Amino acid sequence: MSKKGILVVISGFSGAGKGTVMKGLMERYPDYALSISATTRSPRKGEQEGIHYFFKTEPEFEQMIENREFIEYARYVDHFYGTPKRYVEEQLETGKDVILEIELQGALEVKRKHPETLLLFVTPPDAKELVKRLKGRGTESDEQIRHRLARAVEESKCMEQYDYIVVNDDIDTCVTHIHEMIQVQHDASIHQ
Ligand code: 5GP
Repeated sequence: MSKKGILVVISGFSGAGKGTVMKGLMERYPDYALSISATTRSPRKGEQEGIHYFFKTEPEFEQMIENREFIEYARYVDHFYGTPKRYVEEQLETGKDVILEIELQGALEVKRKHPETLLLFVTPPDAKELVKRLKGRGTESDEQIRHRLARAVEESKCMEQYDYIVVNDDIDTCVTHIHEMIQVQHDASIHQ
């Protein structure tokens, strides 16, 4: 019997080192399918169209909403972000596990639509480390950093809605834990 893949959402505070964790996860486990989101924010230095995001204008994004192209979408700080539906569905059908790296609102929307989704939340070891990483990245203005920290405080109130919280004090360990949690979910769904 062919089995559908598992949908895995990875969220975390902006600056939690999520990007590095995602990179590590995909390098070590290239069989996972990583969903590429659409966003209305501008590319950061080094970000490429179709690799990091599909960069859209607001009218283009609105058209995608109207066409019902997203599994979920959300406004985060000043911009829209959304998960295109088609790629995710195709990959799940072929039995691949699909990873979505999205924020809280979107995560809860995906869980509502697909209750079997595994929700993981990545946090830095402490708040000081969060501020240090966010500032050290050097890609946001002071005001944007303040907004992202305010959003982190809001998100921390909802962390218990996730299935697991993964502390990122070491990338390799964090990647191993995420992989193990996905495998456990797999085994559980096979035995259902
Ligand atoms: P960034 O601007 O730092 O790339 O992303 C900002 C936030 O948007 C992050 O928390 C990231 O996880 C989230 N995000 C990225 N893509 C999506 C998406 O498709 N949907 C939702 N809801 N959030 C997303």
